[in-house]
Amino acid sequence: MQNGSLKEAGDGYRPPFDADEFRRLGHAMVDFIAEYQQSLGTGSLPVRSQASPGYLAPRLPGAAPEQPEGLPAILEDVQRHILPGMTHWQSPSFFAWFPANTSPPSLVADMLCSALGVIGFSWVSSPAATELEAIVLDWLGQLLRLPPSFLSPQGGTGVIQSTASEATLVALLSAKARAMEGRPEEDALKLCAYCSDQAHSSVRKACMVAGITRLRALPTSPEHLHALQPEAIEAAVQADLAEGLLPCFACATIGTTNSCAVDPLPAIGQLALRHSLWLHVDAAYAGTFGLLPELSSHFEGLELADSFDTNPHKGLLTNFDCSTMWFREGRARWARQALSLTPEYLRHHANDLDYKDLQVPLGRKFRALKLWFVMRMYGAEGLRAYLRNRLECQRVFEELLAADSRFLVAEGTAPRFGLVCFRLAGATRQQSEVVLEAVNASGTAFLVGTLMDGQHTIRMAIGSATVLPRHIREAWAAIQAAADEVLGPVATSNGAENGLAH
Ligand SMILES: *Cc1c(COP(=O)(O)O)cnc(C)c1O
Repeated sequence: MQNGSLKEAGDGYRPPFDADEFRRLGHAMVDFIAEYQQSLGTGSLPVRSQASPGYLAPRLPGAAPEQPEGLPAILEDVQRHILPGMTHWQSPSFFAWFPANTSPPSLVADMLCSALGVIGFSWVSSPAATELEAIVLDWLGQLLRLPPSFLSPQGGTGVIQSTASEATLVALLSAKARAMEGRPEEDALKLCAYCSDQAHSSVRKACMVAGITRLRALPTSPEHLHALQPEAIEAAVQADLAEGLLPCFACATIGTTNSCAVDPLPAIGQLALRHSLWLHVDAAYAGTFGLLPELSSHFEGLELADSFDTNPHKGLLTNFDCSTMWFREGRARWARQALSLTPEYLRHHANDLDYKDLQVPLGRKFRALKLWFVMRMYGAEGLRAYLRNRLECQRVFEELLAADSRFLVAEGTAPRFGLVCFRLAGATRQQSEVVLEAVNASGTAFLVGTLMDGQHTIRMAIGSATVLPRHIREAWAAIQAAADEVLGPVATSNGAENGLAH
């Protein structure tokens, strides 16, 4: 202290929670979390919350406390009032939507991220945050066997977005910047974008935000397993060109949300090249299966894409948020053209590694840390083993399904990437919904339904970090019990056990 008056001014305030106190709090919290994790597999917590809307307010005070409270009191309230209102996404019996799995390596890294607490929008704001991000995206890009033109040695650029929705928006804004170069502003009203009717709703939202009113969501069919047909895009592009419009962007999906359909990249890529469309590949869920050489056929043609995105926060053991996006060589400059803005207070060492120029917000977490921890602590082998376990669980589920004549794999879908879409043979939509609700109300497992070709379809999306074949069998028993209630028991004794012998 060089200055007595400064010292005096600070004397009245004692910041609570010194490092020793933090150590105590942290240990208590880790113990609490570990106990929660142990309870997840035991069936003591219903997977889907059984709470009713508005359940919480009557249980909690109407105002924040005036006096500080201790952690034990808060954890007791978490146990009594919060956990009953949780849907347990980390349960091994969570099969709804797509997974959002996490893992101890990711959790401890996220703790470090929060503790370092940097906002790494530019290189100088925390050089390691920027440089590690570039390195781990090259690591992951190699593991996913991305074309070399997406990796930094060959001029590609990786960036971690918060969500796949933001990645799609950034890709669309880049496409717009490229298409509009040298054109009068009013031409922006003529821009057209293309995707399939199975593309994620975030494509439409990106168009809403980017001011692109002409999104052609092209119909798909069960005959082609709901994959986008290049002829459909070609016809739509020709029609738009004939009207004097400006086709600029196509979004292809590897692993659609409804059924994990895979759009044919080689043909769509050629078409995009011919018509100068920016091709973005949305592989939010399924992209991490690029780690498995046996599934590489789904990723053929990726070298023709301009940008690619997948969510380690869905299927690669890295907790939300972590959506990894890559630009092919030379393409990131269009993102910068669309998004770079440098006010005086950020004008330090503006350089190519300022990630603020490749995303919509300014602030960003040091998300590379958790991906780095996950890749190091699992190793590529551990990550592949985890993905293959999900495929094995999928195979077990398919066998169980095939052995019960009341069920079938939904027509127009193919089980893949851990997702099985199935139906009750000959059941009405209402019967199917009743069966699904009975399973979810039982608390044993949680699945969601969708509509495909007008038919109610139940989705079994297998992705928990801790799922094992035994959880698949338990879920199947709950599904069969619900079907017994609604449709009556299966007619023959040729049931699941015989089927399993094959
Ligand atoms: C989940 C999903 C998205 C949205 O992901 P967010 O990260 O939540 O924005 C987009 N596309 C596909 C194919 C998805 O499965």
